[in-house]
Amino acid sequence: MFCFKNFRQRLNLRYISSLVQSKAYINGKWVKAENNEVFEIINPANGSVVGSVPNMSVNDASQAVQAAKKAFESSQWSMFTAKERSSLLKKWYCLIEENADEISSIMTAESGKPLNEARGEVAYGNAFIEWFGEEARRIYGEIIPSSTKDRELIVLKEPLGVAALITPWNFPMAMITRKAGAALAAGCTIVIKPAEDTPLTALALVKLAEQAGFPAGVINIVTTNKAPPIGDLFCKSPDVEGISFTGSTEVGKLLFRNSSDGIKRISLELGGNAPFIVFNSANLDKAVDAAVSCKFRNCGQTCISANRFFLQQEVHDGFIDLLKQRVESLKVGDGSKPGIQIGPLINSMQFNKVSAYVEDARLKNANIILGGKPLKNLGNLFYSPTIITDVPTNAKLYTEEVFGPVVSIMKFNTEEEVIHAANNSRRGLAGYFFSENIQQVFRVAKLLEVGMVGVNEALISAAEAPFGGVKESGIGREGCHHGIDEYVEIKYICMGNLRY
Ligand code: NAP
Repeated sequence: MFCFKNFRQRLNLRYISSLVQSKAYINGKWVKAENNEVFEIINPANGSVVGSVPNMSVNDASQAVQAAKKAFESSQWSMFTAKERSSLLKKWYCLIEENADEISSIMTAESGKPLNEARGEVAYGNAFIEWFGEEARRIYGEIIPSSTKDRELIVLKEPLGVAALITPWNFPMAMITRKAGAALAAGCTIVIKPAEDTPLTALALVKLAEQAGFPAGVINIVTTNKAPPIGDLFCKSPDVEGISFTGSTEVGKLLFRNSSDGIKRISLELGGNAPFIVFNSANLDKAVDAAVSCKFRNCGQTCISANRFFLQQEVHDGFIDLLKQRVESLKVGDGSKPGIQIGPLINSMQFNKVSAYVEDARLKNANIILGGKPLKNLGNLFYSPTIITDVPTNAKLYTEEVFGPVVSIMKFNTEEEVIHAANNSRRGLAGYFFSENIQQVFRVAKLLEVGMVGVNEALISAAEAPFGGVKESGIGREGCHHGIDEYVEIKYICMGNLRY
């Protein structure tokens, strides 16, 4: 049925940005799904439809894989010089920068993220295109000194081939560029499968890549709300050499299992359960500032959000008083409006999960000192910024990643006790602690079983730094020069019988 309101809203978004696309991109062409199916993208702040995109099938995804394979082999993307690949990435970077406001508006409309944060993500996400544009020229091989006189031992780094990139909704741009930048710099061709909730940002990026002049088939994007069969295709197709996935640990494990038959290269950036420890010697103002940004950024929906707050006995009450004042003043609402600091949760599944975890803690006698309820007056997906103390170790808020605006607090006495508690999780993505004691700083940084540690700092991600986890939080690293390693094979060439 024709809905004038929806039509107007679509026009509005198109007015905001000519980058809003309603087709996917395969082999250099903007295409519909083979069966013409589409699905709608909903603004989580108000439930309006902001666009629709093709609901692609396995056949469509298979065509994208074939296009990427052809581009890798016949148009010889991998044989472009490093300088040529670097130049294209730089052009893409510049176009993204020119269109940063438009991309931010699209991102806010489909993800609910406040506009300021969306702008921050565009800058952060684009930093990966810039970084890997530079790194493309530094994918060095080696000559290893031989133990025999008539040999030279040469090591080359060669691109894998086709890489499938599967990304989540919480960082609709950065999770794509962190993978795509590295893959393209290495000489791989790619098929992107963005999250069902946030494909418009991804399509806008690909539109700009087209304008930058990447050859047909080098970058392909498949939109769908039927991810499992397409994931299965990526895992099983012999034409896909590598899979890079960011998302839940459960889906990561499934992809890991399913791709084992083909011994695929796989890179997994999965969920966390980050400890945030405040020791007695900490600077409390700095720790509270960091706690607010680390916990409430993107409404708590980041994989490196602090999930379990451990406060040492002497600073426990003081930290909570300061935190409560700060959290009470946070402005919640539609992220497209000025001054809003916290938007809605992404969808009803996420909303129900957060509500259920808080109820579980309430039933287990945790102490809800702020919030702990939906904000129905703002819309269906808003949840009040919440602080809960005395969270027991069997509460879901303690054992699982809440992915919402909820601070879960526990008190501790000794360093030994808190290290044991912090490490008592199969997740090991990020961990944070605040201490002014230099001996403790080095000790604790080494003892935490995580891939990334923030010491007196909570905003730790950067294009130059390695991002990734240990245990069930993932395999491989993204960003920095290590990010390239996920997309190259090492080839050893032995030159024998040489005469000098
Ligand atoms: P998710 O459900 O695992 O989805 C992530 C992506 O995988 C989406 O594109 C999704 O498609 C797709 N997908 C779902 N089932 C699939 C399957 N069977 N085969 C192939 N693809 C499949 O995760 P999410 O809920 O979107 O994201 C939240 C999780 O991501 C959290 O646990 C968070 O910690 C983690 N995360 C980790 C990092 C990191 O760098 N470590 C960064 C951000 C987020 P649909 O959208 O169509 O379902």
